[in-house]
Formats: sequence, C-alpha cells, structure tokens
Amino acid sequence: MKAPSERTRVRRVPARAAYDREVVDAILDDGFLCHLGFVQDEQPVVIPTLYARVDDHVYLHGSSASRAMRTGRGGAPVCLTVTLVDGLVLARSVFHHSVNYRSVVVFGEAEQVEGPKEKERALTAFSEALTPGRWADARGPTRQELKGTMVLRVPLDEASAKVRTGPPVDDDEDYELDVWAGVVPLTLERGQPLADPRLRAGTPLPGYL
Ligand SMILES: Cc1cc2nc3c(=O)[nH]c(=O)nc-3n(C[C@H](O)[C@H](O)[C@H](O)COP(=O)(O)OP(=O)(O)OC[C@H]3O[C@@H](n4cnc5c(N)ncnc54)[C@H](O)[C@@H]3O)c2cc1C
Repeated sequence: MKAPSERTRVRRVPARAAYDREVVDAILDDGFLCHLGFVQDEQPVVIPTLYARVDDHVYLHGSSASRAMRTGRGGAPVCLTVTLVDGLVLARSVFHHSVNYRSVVVFGEAEQVEGPKEKERALTAFSEALTPGRWADARGPTRQELKGTMVLRVPLDEASAKVRTGPPVDDDEDYELDVWAGVVPLTLERGQPLADPRLRAGTPLPGYL
C-alpha cells in the first residue's frame, strides 16, 4: 500500500484506509459531486460542486465570477472530499449504527487551467462523467462561454480513501437481542428522462439516454 503523508494518514479506524491510486481513482470515478473546502479571510468555507478526474488531477469548473473559483485559482490550499453512501448499517444497539461508504479526501493546491486544449478536455470530462455521449450531441461552448467558465485542477498527490463495507459490528452480548440488524442498501439511480415542455416537436430521445 502507498504510504500516506502526515496529513492524509487516517487515524480513526485505519483498517478502513487506503492510499493507492487505484482505490482513490475508482471512488472518484464513481462519483460526480464533491465538497471543496478552502479558507477565506480565516473563515473555513465548504462548497458542494461537480468534479471530474482526468489522469492525475481532479478538475473543477465554475463561473469566473464565483468566489470558490477566484479563491482557488491563485494556488490556494484546498481540501476536496468525495462521499459515496452505499447503505445504512443498523446495529442492535443505537451506539453501533453506522453507514457503509466509500470516501476520498484530497489535500492540495488548486491551479487555474489556462491552456484551451486542457480546458476543453476537462469540460468534456465533466459532461461525459455525468452523461456519456452528451458532449458530442449538445451545442459546444462559444468563445465567450469558455471565457466565462473557469477550470481549476487539484493534483492527486496527497489523497486518502476510507471504505466501510459489511454488516454491523455489535457488542458480543447484544447478538442475543431480538432486534433486527443488517444493512439497508442505498443507491442513486437514473430515472426515466422527462422531456422539456419546450422541446421541439419530433425531437427523439437520444440513444445514450
Ligand atoms: C458518509 C459518511 C458518514 C460518516 N459519519 C460519521 C459520523 O457520523 N461520525 C464520525 O465520527 N465519523 C463519521 N464518518 C467518518 C469520518 O469521515 C471520519 O473518518 C472520522 O470522523 C474521523 O475523523 P478525524 O478527522 O478524526 O479522522 P483522522 O483519522 O484524524 O483523519 C486524518 C486524515 O485521514 C483522512 N480521512 C479521515 N476520514 C476520511 C474519510 N472518511 N475518507 C477519506 N479520508 C479520510 C484525511 O486525510 C484526514 O485528514 C463518516 C464518513 C462517511 C463517508
């Protein structure tokens, strides 16, 4: 297993930790929503935002006017967290209730992506991560739209993963109790697409949906 840095080393329940890029990447690639933490004027701020991983970076995007983007672009230290919740873990005692999850915490310095090729690659990755096939189908960004969109990247040099799986872990004496215990799986599913009321008549639902 890859060695963690001092600030990524999981202290609480270290058996659930992993620092290998395969584990980290698999979790990142299964999600699309992260929480971006940064400090502004000594005030910690945590903002939910979309992300996409491409190779060794996590990319973030937003309006060039957004505070998170403007704060991040100057090499600000950030903490980026991704959380996937897989189930509710119902133990026999309330104390041992838990959740099954896969999560990643990344520490790093954000930097602005200026090169048009890398910027477009990142924006394509956002779109493809959420809806594969969409980028090629929808109208591409204009020069003005691209200018108004800032893209940041955070290197995956300092990342930790933490994963909980399996049934509850109860105190030995509690296994005798007549209380149901187990896991209630939780999943995020795509629903049936709902057409925009202003959809041009006769526009078919794309195959990729
Ligand atoms: C969906 C979900 C719900 C949770 N609910 C609770 C809860 O209710 N109460 C609770 O105490 N804990 C909960 N946890 C666990 C929580 O995320 C922390 O791991 C735990 O609280 C210990 O925090 P700490 O700062 O003391 O960890 P430490 O072990 O001191 O953290 C040291 C370093 O380990 C890494 N690390 C810590 N936690 C994680 C993580 N989850 N994923 C990736 N890297 C990590 C970070 O790099 C961190 O800087 C939950 C986790 C998830 C994903």
